[in-house]
Amino acid sequence: MSAGRFAPSPSGDLHIGNLRTALLAWLWARHSERGFLLRIEDLDRVRPGAEAKQLADLRAIGLTWDEEPVRQSARHALYDSAISGLVRAGRVYECFCSRREILQAPTAPHSPPGAYPGTCRELTTAQRSERRRHRPAALRLRSHVATFVVRDEIHGEFEGAVDDFVLRRGDGVPSYNLAVVVDDADQGIDQVVRGDDLLASAPRQAYLAGLLGAAVPQYVHVPLALNAAGRRLAKRDGAVTLEQLRSHGVDVFGLLAESWGLRGASPHELLRSFNPTVRPVGPWVFAPPASAR
Ligand code: GLU
Repeated sequence: MSAGRFAPSPSGDLHIGNLRTALLAWLWARHSERGFLLRIEDLDRVRPGAEAKQLADLRAIGLTWDEEPVRQSARHALYDSAISGLVRAGRVYECFCSRREILQAPTAPHSPPGAYPGTCRELTTAQRSERRRHRPAALRLRSHVATFVVRDEIHGEFEGAVDDFVLRRGDGVPSYNLAVVVDDADQGIDQVVRGDDLLASAPRQAYLAGLLGAAVPQYVHVPLALNAAGRRLAKRDGAVTLEQLRSHGVDVFGLLAESWGLRGASPHELLRSFNPTVRPVGPWVFAPPASAR
């Protein structure tokens, strides 16, 4: 199957910027006659009730999806099997570093800021067994490149760092990068439309997809919604959720459509004039209605 997707983390209510990204992902998918799937990224940061609320809000703006949403928490077997394959291929090593140790380690010349310095890459068997007694190991990818290039429909060619990123955390939870790549491949997702805060992760994910024998999806990293101060929109910015905005009489769907230069009362109506090559330049600045500030 060929499909696009929206993959929220159920950590709270979606805000209008998240709803806009979901609508754009739907438009991109349906415009290219793809399926559209939802995936609940609940390996981390779950707030009880958030998933049901998010799905209700997505339905309330008229989005539809083709299958029951999948939950990452039910898919550990898939992640384990992908990691085992990489282990067999010699592409995984155990890492015992704390966050603090990583920050304090001298970085290799030319390595990008924040890249893992490779401290545990060449530990001997004896060193590993000694360290295992003190701390559970995280698993890292043994990357053979420093950077990787992806093509993005909005940003063009983008080259970004690929360090020895984490595949499974010390507490046993699969990493975001691993889970996303395994799930997109497993669900037949060949188009990824999401916020451009994740553009920097795309090279790691595309590189990993190659190692897992999966195709790299089409990437569309859409500009995030910003607040009046030019920073990424957040819930503390005031009335930003569907429910809050509706209680202030805001036509949320109309606002979302207009933010992308479109008009219509439903996603299907927007589809008639949606053209993926025509889009606003730069971010969308959202200020909550005056009555809600
Ligand atoms: N779950 C991620 C988020 O809510 C999105 C991941 C993705 O689209 O790849 O930010």
